[in-house]
Amino acid sequence: MKLGIGGIVVAIIAYFIGGPDLVMSLFSGAGSQPQSEAPIEAGTPSDEAGAFVSHVLGDTEETWTAIFSQAGRQYPSPYLVLFSQGINTGCGQASSAAGPFYCPADNKLYIDLAFFRQLESEFSAQGDFAKAYVIAHEVGHHVQTVLGTSAKVREAQQLSRSEAEVNALQVRMELQADCYAGIWAHHADSARQLVEQGDIDEALTAASAVGDDTIQKRVQGHVNQESFTHGSGAERQQWFRKGYSTGSVDACNTFQ
Ligand SMILES: [Zn+2]
Repeated sequence: MKLGIGGIVVAIIAYFIGGPDLVMSLFSGAGSQPQSEAPIEAGTPSDEAGAFVSHVLGDTEETWTAIFSQAGRQYPSPYLVLFSQGINTGCGQASSAAGPFYCPADNKLYIDLAFFRQLESEFSAQGDFAKAYVIAHEVGHHVQTVLGTSAKVREAQQLSRSEAEVNALQVRMELQADCYAGIWAHHADSARQLVEQGDIDEALTAASAVGDDTIQKRVQGHVNQESFTHGSGAERQQWFRKGYSTGSVDACNTFQ
């Protein structure tokens, strides 16, 4: 992936170097006093991994701003929070084990950079574009929130009669986020020529590696489709490809 694209403004609220105490003190409610006076860097992170995340996020911002403005709407950018160990979020307490996630309650994207090392070592998904796919997927959840899709799905899930139904709806949400990640790749490629040979394969390898079937096979030795919450590796690849080839939000109707 070609980076070094300058001039992108990234919305980063805080970049934490401190431990969980410091992080907690920043996110807990009014009245609580910070326990330590350790320095907090706000702005664009300067180390390589953090800078990469903010670059990719900045590029997704460019893509979605263009798509929204075509529809006469403004794209409200999500915030990025890089953390280590644990963090208190608008969606509750999170540990690094949760992996990268988006919290619709506070419109923030939480990423522990340790996950990217795990992506390479445990999931054998190498390369920058594998990481970019993960970031773009989380941004996809932000887009779903802005468009009201997330709220509709939550409603439908509350009316669901079984765990399998709840999970099936969740899978459709996740596959749509994969398709949206593909839309980002489409625009990064066609509008800004950021995509290099092999990049799409890196994303597809990552999409397969984080598929429910791949993970279940690895962790429990067998696959139970009813418990899928993200879709199979093949489905995840299929929807990423669809977004990438069309670049169109309408093509990402996984609920049809
Ligand atoms: Zn997701």
